[in-house]
Amino acid sequence: MFVDSHCHLSQLKLQQNQMLADVIEAANNENVRGFLSVATDIDNALAIQQQAHTLKNVWVTAGLHPLHPISDPAWHKQLEALALHQSCVAIGETGLDYYYAREKDAQQWQRDALEYHIDLSNKLGKPLVIHTRNAQQHTLDILKANVKSDKPGVIHCFTEDLKLANSFLELGFYISFSGIITFKNAQSLRDVVKQIPLERILIETDSPYLAPEPFRKESNVPQYVVEVAKCISLIKNEPIEHIARQTTVNFENLFDLKVS
Ligand SMILES: [Zn+2]
Ligand SMILES: [Zn+2]
Repeated sequence: MFVDSHCHLSQLKLQQNQMLADVIEAANNENVRGFLSVATDIDNALAIQQQAHTLKNVWVTAGLHPLHPISDPAWHKQLEALALHQSCVAIGETGLDYYYAREKDAQQWQRDALEYHIDLSNKLGKPLVIHTRNAQQHTLDILKANVKSDKPGVIHCFTEDLKLANSFLELGFYISFSGIITFKNAQSLRDVVKQIPLERILIETDSPYLAPEPFRKESNVPQYVVEVAKCISLIKNEPIEHIARQTTVNFENLFDLKVS
């Protein structure tokens, strides 16, 4: 059994007459059984909560993506209310993305928002889903200074180097890999995968973005998480069943749930 530890179910590009339940069923047919539907703003956090209760083994998060800044401070309260919901198992995605946010004000907003999400995570005992790009030192410094749990969350769609991965592992984070590891030009990232213990790895699609090879030209869907697992199986030279089992156990441990 596989799980997709990071997808955006409310943002999938459904075909005509296709329902979200059909996407989940297609994934189930590939033995992909558990899904974490990740919020990027207040509106879709609400939407995915409503979707989650009609679907089996779908859990959600509450968070504001670093590239979706809101100036109205009322979002703090709204987010907290969403985070309290029983289907919500994690806080995020949150983090720093200086690749797209080049201006100082935007970067400051990201740092403040990240600290708020960490406080909420500490307060509610729900782990973090962290997004980080081109902001290695700041991400690490803020996490080090603020996280309190010894199982604080996951660094999702990891694309940075081994040194940074090791620093996150030391803080207790899991590292999640997406379809990017299947890309031809991602050899250095595959070398990182090789060095990370399987007990600390999660797999994800980040769908509808980042479809893996050989589906790269398509819109991504949760069932393609199997391609990520296949790639890890090749890198680590271990049977895919083992990769599937261990990444599912990791997912259950981190988010304190059971995929049935
Ligand atoms: Zn992200
Ligand atoms: Zn995402």
